[in-house]
Amino acid sequence: MYSIDRLAEQYVRLSLQIGLHCPNFVDAYYGPKEWLPIESKLPLDSIKISLKEAIVRAGELPKEETRQQERRFELLLIQIKAAVVYVDMLQGNFLSFSKECDSLYDAKPLAQPAEDFDKVLIELEELLPGTGELNSRLNRYREGFAIPVGKLERVFSAAINEARRRTLLHIDLPANENFEVELVTDQVWSAYNWYKGNSFSLIELNTDFPIQIERAIDLAAHEGYPGHHVFNALMEKHLVNKNRWMEYSIYNLFSPISLLAEGSANYGIEVAFPWQERLVFEKEVLFPLAGIDPSLCDKYYQIQQVLHKLSYSDNMIAQRFLDGEIDESAAIELLMKYGLNSPEKARQRLSFIKQNRAYVITYNYGQDLVKCYLQSQLKRFDHNELWAVFAELLANPRSGSMMK
Ligand SMILES: [Zn+2]
Repeated sequence: MYSIDRLAEQYVRLSLQIGLHCPNFVDAYYGPKEWLPIESKLPLDSIKISLKEAIVRAGELPKEETRQQERRFELLLIQIKAAVVYVDMLQGNFLSFSKECDSLYDAKPLAQPAEDFDKVLIELEELLPGTGELNSRLNRYREGFAIPVGKLERVFSAAINEARRRTLLHIDLPANENFEVELVTDQVWSAYNWYKGNSFSLIELNTDFPIQIERAIDLAAHEGYPGHHVFNALMEKHLVNKNRWMEYSIYNLFSPISLLAEGSANYGIEVAFPWQERLVFEKEVLFPLAGIDPSLCDKYYQIQQVLHKLSYSDNMIAQRFLDGEIDESAAIELLMKYGLNSPEKARQRLSFIKQNRAYVITYNYGQDLVKCYLQSQLKRFDHNELWAVFAELLANPRSGSMMK
């Protein structure tokens, strides 16, 4: 008899098939080995037909009994519909940027106008020392806050141990949960979490570019605790091992769940390290470990806060580039102007946009959406309560429209 579990299995098997056509698609899989496609690679057309058939059959399933099961069904269906869109894209049928946000990530981010970013640039002009062009001034200033490569592992270990300690006070993780950190080069991202199953993650840090001091906590929390590693470990524990909801044994990168994954990983930074607590830890532990003068910390983080207001410029630039409104060199110019990237960093960022397209919105819009959703779940602001609703969301995932 057809059931939601059968539907989940079909989704997993077809996702693995999509993965044979696009190596970046399946980010993690730790479900049954028998479901791995070994004999045949299906053509994209038949994958698409099977996905569409699954959607039709899903419509004939009886209504789920509990709210939790209803949500399971709702999210699974959203994921399957997005998989159809992704197969279409693999066949060369690209959507406009805003349609891609909606159809692939179940997200409708507001576009922020360039004038908003221009105001932030003026604010930065006043904060940054020196004269001349803002971009080179900022990058020169930031050079003084790079973690020396020889100290990277110690600084990052201190950050991730603290992030882990703080997370474990609030979230019950499997006793065997664990991670390893490796330094890598030649990637379009600055760090990556590879979830391997059985509560284990490999976290890679890319050393192509200097890693500035704020990235220690940002990456420790985002990739590790309470970010990607914790999210995956909680899904495995609650949804795969306990409920046997096997659709969660696969993680499709270009899919609606990424909005929650990246959004919660980014928002998790401030959940684990509220601003004032973070500044204390930076000054007392990380700055000294990195050999950077802690008296420079306050000003540096004041500038970081202003830079954060430029985060949606990424979406604007990706939209203009992907919709064919501007060419590569204009995109690089804008990434330097509004993202304040060095020329080399701007080129790396453009490679990221070319590879991941509308995925860029999952970081900034995802973060804001998760933050709003969680705050709406609190009767009054209490930090312990915030951790509780945060953990609850990670163990019961929702897509963008389900968080609205
Ligand atoms: Zn991430």
